[in-house]
This record gives sequence, C-alpha cells and structure tokens, in this order.
Amino acid sequence: MTEPTSWVEGASGSLFDVDNLPYGVFSHDDEEPRVGVRIGDLVLDLAPVAAGEMLEVAHAFEATDLNPLMAMGKPAWSSVRRWVTSLLTDEAERPLVEPMLVPVDEVTMHLPVTVADYVDFYCSLDHAGNVGKIFRPDAEPLLPNWRHLPVGYHGRAGTVVVSGTQVRRPSGQRKPPTADAPTYGASERLDIEAELGFVVGAPSELGHQVPVEAFTDHVFGVVPLNDWSARDIQAWEYVPLGPFLGKSFATSVAAWVTPLEALEPARVDLPGQEPEPLDYLRVGPGAGYDIDFEVELNGEVVARPPYASMYWSPAQMLAHLTVNGASLRVGDLFASGTVSGPRPDQRGSFLELSWGGKEPFTAGGRERAFLEDGDTVTIRATAPGRLGRIALGEVTGNVVPAR
Ligand code: MN
Repeated sequence: MTEPTSWVEGASGSLFDVDNLPYGVFSHDDEEPRVGVRIGDLVLDLAPVAAGEMLEVAHAFEATDLNPLMAMGKPAWSSVRRWVTSLLTDEAERPLVEPMLVPVDEVTMHLPVTVADYVDFYCSLDHAGNVGKIFRPDAEPLLPNWRHLPVGYHGRAGTVVVSGTQVRRPSGQRKPPTADAPTYGASERLDIEAELGFVVGAPSELGHQVPVEAFTDHVFGVVPLNDWSARDIQAWEYVPLGPFLGKSFATSVAAWVTPLEALEPARVDLPGQEPEPLDYLRVGPGAGYDIDFEVELNGEVVARPPYASMYWSPAQMLAHLTVNGASLRVGDLFASGTVSGPRPDQRGSFLELSWGGKEPFTAGGRERAFLEDGDTVTIRATAPGRLGRIALGEVTGNVVPAR
C-alpha cells in the first residue's frame, strides 16, 4: 500500500509532514485563540472545517486550550487524527480545506494546555550521576533509591509558560559553601534543563493506579520542555525536601504538542535496568523513545542530548506517579528530567556542560558557564516518523534581568 501524500505545498518530505500533525493553540489577527494542527509551514484552522462538516468535535477546536480535545480520550484522538490526515491528503477535500490554512509565521501561539498538576522526574542516569558528582563530590553519585524508582517532585503548574515567553532572572536566598550566612539577591547560577514533557489527556480515578500498560491510554502527547533552574537557590534550599523556589519561577514548553501516535516509529528498548524494578514498574521491549535533542545558546548548538539513553521510561514514570492512588487530571504534565547522554557534548544542562562552573565551555567564541541576561536558549528535537523524520515543537526563551 502506498502512503497517501499531502496536497499541501511544501509539506511532503518536510519535518511537519502528515506523519507528524502536532496540535497547538493559535490566534490570527484579532481573533480568539483556538485549536490548530500544523502541516508544513502552515496551521490548519480546525474549528471551521469541523463545523462545516457538522462534527461534534468542532466545539473542542473552538476552545482556547487542548484540554476539551484531550478529555475526549484515546479513541477520539485516533479518529480525529485519521480525519485530519484525510483532509490533508485527499485532493477532493482541498477546495474546502485550503482556505483554512494560515502561514505559521502569521499566527501567535499560546500555551497549548491548561496545566493541571506538574511533576518533574529525574530519569537520566548520566544526568543524575553528573549532578551527584558535582553537588556531592565525596559521596556515592546516585542515592540508594535511584535505580529502584523514578525520582521526582511536584512542581508549580501555574508558572508553565509557552515557548517564546521571556524568563525573568529569579532572586532568592543563596549561600555559597564558603559563606557563613545566606544573602538575598539575583541568581548568579541560572541554568536550563532540556527535558521531554508528557501531557496527560485522559484522567484517572482517585485511589486507582495506572499500570504501565495503560500509558498510551492516558498520555495525549509530548512537548520539549525547559526546566529553568537557579542552581545557587536550589543548592541552599533543596535539603531535605527537594527543589522549591530554584525551579518554580518558570518552566517553558513548546507550543506544539506531538501526539504519542506520531512517535510510534520512534519507540526503542530502554538501555537496560539493573536491578530489575519491582513488578509494577516492569516494562517490555519498546518502552523508550529515540528522540534527538539539540540545545542552542544564542543560535549555536552547545549540546545534543539523546533521549534514547534515558534510564526510566515514561510508562514507568506514570505508573509510579499513580502507584499510591493519586489521580490524574486532564492537562497534567510530567517531565522526564534533564536529558543527558554519556558524552560531554550530550549534556542537557549548563551545570553539567561547565561541570558546576569549574570547567567553562566555549560558545559565541568565549568561555561560558551559567546564563547571562540577554541569552536566548532554544531546545529542538526530532525523531523518526512513519514517512521520515518529524520535528517536535521547539521551546525557546530569552533571559531578562532580575527586578
Ligand atoms: Mn528538571
């Protein structure tokens, strides 16, 4: 069977071909934000097309976030994706659909999801090992629980912002190890964390666990995510209850949510888990994702973290997150933790790239460690799709001075 190709100019063979079709929330001119799907360099305005065909889903496309669409559940996600594919590949649909395409550079993108609860994990063995060595040089890099459960913390849903939002340098308490007492001031060790975020569509009931097998029933899609981190605030505050104000000031996500279905061809085996996890965390082959990340500082690539190297799978994160009976809500977001590979050029944070600031890396023709005011960081990712490579939405942010 030959694959149907899109009639949309420039779409076929691009990173946004019909095997991708990410959803986002856009506005055009003075119109209200609503749901669109990306094809090539265009956004398809779904609401008028669905309304014209008298489809019930039309109301979900008129929403200012993806939550109503996500709440419809997995069978609806699949049927909407099939419908959109047919719109964009069937030449007979072209007269109706073509007028509803808007160039992506003419629209404003909005936060795609109203985030319910937000959890950030810590699933990269290389990242956890590096941070352990940097923060606790005289101790075992991994804490005893790390290989037994995906470690995480509950973050701040209300400060998740869409790609392009400026990030204000946070202020807070900092105490260098050599100082006797903390001082208050602007963070001097502002950092990024290149991560993959998972957006929950279908909720779960309080008191019920979500098994690893139900991962694709609940998770709607993925977004590259930047977990901005103030390392000096974090280092002073995080013992014993974990990250708090060093991370809660801003978390940026891509404007485009790539459906999980588009990532089916990117599934790979995990690198291996030793010791074998407890029963509720056991997964079979294909639990990982082969997604290549790129971290850009002021337009220059400074790292290429490989998602395939992640130790814990997203199905395990979700199973662990709910194993105590905690329920899921539409719009929950959980993130993987910094993606870092084994090589120095595969590290997904500046903390690691500069080894705690002690071994600066070169960017823009000079030595760099932590973020400076005016810096722009962009995180991009691509993965194998059904027809070629697909791009995930990029997440970018510009650092502005502390107040
Ligand atoms: Mn993080």
